[in-house]
Amino acid sequence: MADSECLLCRVDDADAHFRRRRVWQDEYWRLSVVLHGAVVGFGHLEPHRHIPFITDLDGAEAATCGAVLARASAAVRAATGADKVYVYVFGDRVPHLHFNLAPHHLGDALIGGSGLIQPGARQADPAAHEAAATAIELALSLPLPSPADRGDPPAPLKSME
Ligand SMILES: [Zn+2]
Repeated sequence: MADSECLLCRVDDADAHFRRRRVWQDEYWRLSVVLHGAVVGFGHLEPHRHIPFITDLDGAEAATCGAVLARASAAVRAATGADKVYVYVFGDRVPHLHFNLAPHHLGDALIGGSGLIQPGARQADPAAHEAAATAIELALSLPLPSPADRGDPPAPLKSME
């Protein structure tokens, strides 16, 4: 049930406010990518239903959360080439559950823990934000690999010399 007082329940308003683009959704969840700031490919993964905090997560959203979180964070990592994806949930400013997915490269603006983004971090190129959003969108448009398809990576090509 949408809460008219909640920014994230007014999805178009939220997209404009955060300058983000929705790149994927299913029956219960949506992923948006923020298109400005120091971190390229920064995602918001949130349930369509108004669930205030992680501690309120229940029902179908709870049942699907792990798989969706794994899939979305893996797509963000693959699309941005990040070393890892930081995932954090606060709820202090917007009490509608959302996972912040922050792709992290060694030495970038993210310092992890409570610091998050360094003061004075350089803004990334808007085109890079757009490219990352498009790459994440594409990654999530592909079918899930079946467990049988998940094996060891292919062996490197042998030299022809
Ligand atoms: Zn809400």
